[in-house]
Amino acid sequence: MIKKKLGILGGGQLGMFICQAARNFGIYTTVFSTTKDFSAKDFCDNYIIGKFNDYKKIQEFIKSSSHFTVETENIPIDLLEKINNNKKIFPSSEVIKIAQNRLREKKFLNSIPGVKTVKFSSINSYDDLCSKLKQFKFKAIIKSCELGYDGKNQFIVNKNNIYSFEKMNLNNFIIEEFIDFEKEVSVIVSKAEKNIISYPPVENLHKDSILKETKYPADLNNKLIKSSLEIANKIANKINLNGVLAVEMFLLKNDDILVNEIAPRPHNSGHWTMDACKYSQYDNLIFSIFEPFVKEPLPQKSCKMINLIGKDFNNFDNLKKKYKCYDYFKNEIRPKRKMGHYVIF
Ligand code: ADP
Ligand code: MG
Repeated sequence: MIKKKLGILGGGQLGMFICQAARNFGIYTTVFSTTKDFSAKDFCDNYIIGKFNDYKKIQEFIKSSSHFTVETENIPIDLLEKINNNKKIFPSSEVIKIAQNRLREKKFLNSIPGVKTVKFSSINSYDDLCSKLKQFKFKAIIKSCELGYDGKNQFIVNKNNIYSFEKMNLNNFIIEEFIDFEKEVSVIVSKAEKNIISYPPVENLHKDSILKETKYPADLNNKLIKSSLEIANKIANKINLNGVLAVEMFLLKNDDILVNEIAPRPHNSGHWTMDACKYSQYDNLIFSIFEPFVKEPLPQKSCKMINLIGKDFNNFDNLKKKYKCYDYFKNEIRPKRKMGHYVIF
């Protein structure tokens, strides 16, 4: 039998968990990493270290596998298209292209009937920021349209601190109305050729714009559970998903739901599915790539997933005695760096 081969762009913790799931199904993995030390190193069968613009290394990577996936949407689009032209990539480059630019993403989301986001506008300069801030009632958040994650390249702006942005390069930024939300929830969907499944909504708590905790089940009434699932499914269908997609949402005090952003890959708020579901988000990513059907997740127990960020990790050995703990094998502790997580049932 020819062994199935999966190439994964990115070798962080998400890439590591993808490798582990792939290994369970006997799939041979090759990781492309832009850094020498990476979480997936001991969990993949093969790896290539290089820059995304290193033509030779990329050719070698494309040759390594028949099927491809990503652990991040922050990958140059010409590289994704190159893979897409030669081999199968999950999700397709078209899906990733939408999710990697916040402006494109928000325009796409608002084009779907029944899906809404916060009010937003494009800005490119400090003058733009000043004039738009007024429209956003002097409380807004600005984010670089591309290459931001875990709250990187984003800033809350108000009347008092606006002057501190005068010297900043604000080219290709988005300004969003700052939302006083009730809760943040996310829904993960997975779609294969023949079916689509969703994980139940979970509740997410962020600290300094980085995910700190995910709780399953989310404390939501049935109507909100249904609406959040409907929104995520509408997006997955409209975007023509092949793979896994996480939909982050703001739940407002009046029970309105606004979509914050989408991530076309396994998501930190889905780590809990490894311990509390029959089939995890990583299992379903593998099914969506190699099988015609994805599988119902079948959650088994309630739980809370807690991220270990920066120095939180110093407590790892203690936590290990009590909880199911995951080490991401990062080479050093850095502020705001996700180092591991643990799960409380
Ligand atoms: P990232 O790609 O870094 O996850 P997000 O857009 O999801 O970027 O922002 C990270 C977090 O910052 C969100 O989960 C939320 O807690 C907060 N945030 C983002 N946008 C807004 C907004 N418009 N209003 C209020 N809070 C926001
Ligand atoms: Mg986010």
